[in-house]
Amino acid sequence: MKSRRDFLLKLGGSALTLPIVSALTPAEAATPPADKQLRVALVGLGSYADRVATAMKDCKLAKLVGGVTGTPEKIDKWSGKFGLDKANFYDYKDFEKIKENPNIDAVYITLPNSMHHEYTLRAAKMGKHVICEKPMSVSVKEAQEMIAACKKANVKLYIGYRLHFEPYTRELIRMRESGELGKIMHVNTYDGFKSGDPKQWRLKKALAGGGALMDVGIYCINGARYATGEEPIWVSAEEAKTDPVKFKEVDETVTWQMGFPSGAIASCATTYNFNNFERLYVIGEKGFVELGPAFGYGPIKGRTHKGEMSWDTSKMHQTWQMDGMADCILNGKPEPNISGEEGLKDMKVIEAIYKSIAAGGKKIMV
Ligand code: NAD
Repeated sequence: MKSRRDFLLKLGGSALTLPIVSALTPAEAATPPADKQLRVALVGLGSYADRVATAMKDCKLAKLVGGVTGTPEKIDKWSGKFGLDKANFYDYKDFEKIKENPNIDAVYITLPNSMHHEYTLRAAKMGKHVICEKPMSVSVKEAQEMIAACKKANVKLYIGYRLHFEPYTRELIRMRESGELGKIMHVNTYDGFKSGDPKQWRLKKALAGGGALMDVGIYCINGARYATGEEPIWVSAEEAKTDPVKFKEVDETVTWQMGFPSGAIASCATTYNFNNFERLYVIGEKGFVELGPAFGYGPIKGRTHKGEMSWDTSKMHQTWQMDGMADCILNGKPEPNISGEEGLKDMKVIEAIYKSIAAGGKKIMV
């Protein structure tokens, strides 16, 4: 198995000159004492929270300490499974009591999308740092309010953009930033899967805000942004719906283009209707990077104009992410593009895409 040491060795001398890389590879040395770790409570103990909790078992700088749930039985289950103190669990109703708990530094919101706004505002008021899952909200307006609330409370707002800590994605960004790819000419991003249970919250607009685009299409938007290092200035989009009953409230398959100031164009697609749809391909004048799988839990694979890529896949993405975020908050390490402002940029593109669909594919300025 490849180690983090191999990963650092691969970075070679450049690791010392790229502060962003050191921010993403927190100390492998001894685990610091608990009061020097970022102590996190998960809000909403569903399937993604379980994945984050499992990954955090291997964290050094971040530590899972508690949770917020509306299901009392989960307190027994989670405290047993992850060795957590029951004193660090709360109900949604008494969430505000978390303010008095000095053993919780941050909350990680893993609730359905439309609840991110409310719980971010409530957590900021309690003086806790906020890590919020993607999409950060269901509208631009909400995203702006979340950023303002966290600024006012002087707490961090990070979005769960785990890939910004993941080695293959970091290498793609490093290659683009170093100029190895030359001027970026084109990007191609796909992400999607076949959605199951027709009763799930992801298919209800009131809870999800939107469909495939909000859920996984956001990776295509974020990916095209980190592949170009630019912000899109226009979009044009279309939706295809093959199952209008199941996808009555939310989008099923969306294809779109995004135009960037340099003239580069990203061609993107997302779906809830089929599997094996996951790729990021960035083409520059001097080289290319192709990741596939590119956005899921991996292992991510890829190749460049130099050959096959081979990076550290020994850790879960969320282990990299939570230790990396803790390093930023605790040690002031430079943040990759994970802030609330970054989440807002994706939300602006999402809204523009929906506007374009509603306008029959018309080009919409972002
Ligand atoms: P989930 O349905 O498994 O979990 C949602 C949790 O919210 C459950 O514990 C549920 O009980 C709770 N909840 C509270 N009020 C609810 C309500 N009114 N309706 C439904 N559930 C309610 O969902 P999930 O897959 O864990 O997704 C949660 C969030 O995490 C979403 O925002 C999703 O986009 C995000 N997510 C991110 C990734 C990633 O890779 N970054 C992966 C999966 C999910």
